[in-house]
Amino acid sequence: MSGLRRAVFLDRDGTIIEEAGYPDRLDRILFYPFSIDAVRTLNAGGFVVVVVTNQSGIARGIVPEPFVGEAHHYISDRMRGGGARIDAFYYCRHHPDAIDPALRGCDCRKPQPGLMRQAAADLGLDLSRSFVVGDRWKDLGAGQPDGIRGVLVRTGVGRDQEQDTAERVPGSIIVDDLAAAAAWILRQP
Ligand SMILES: [Mg+2]
Ligand SMILES: [Zn+2]
Repeated sequence: MSGLRRAVFLDRDGTIIEEAGYPDRLDRILFYPFSIDAVRTLNAGGFVVVVVTNQSGIARGIVPEPFVGEAHHYISDRMRGGGARIDAFYYCRHHPDAIDPALRGCDCRKPQPGLMRQAAADLGLDLSRSFVVGDRWKDLGAGQPDGIRGVLVRTGVGRDQEQDTAERVPGSIIVDDLAAAAAWILRQP
């Protein structure tokens, strides 16, 4: 048995905070009321908690990249204030329609697995015993090649995604929100 740790990867917008298009101000970062408790539950369960988020607003020229770092500091601080810990944040700054050609192609925009694989390399994670929680099928799809089990939440765009059965990721489950996802994950052997 390796010394690799188990992780829970969390999507950001629509999963931890409200889906708000391309938030570009801290007052548009609105936590769901259960998010801090849910992350604390995952911490107590011994999981490394990693946020993985597509931030194509950078490539599209809508969100300044420094703001993304600022937003993640803010989210971390709010979590810490509630006794919860996010171990790391990884984001994709790219998009196929990027203004800057250098930001067009990548292997990290979900549903590609690059963000999770980078986290695994940096943090020593056992992806096959890890989980991903998100409000889009592509969040879960990013974990599929590495055997990461997926939990779709009905917050954000999740209720619409739930109806889109063609996109459903095999082996995943659907729950109401991040609180239910954390509770389910802790019940798994
Ligand atoms: Mg989302
Ligand atoms: Zn990318």
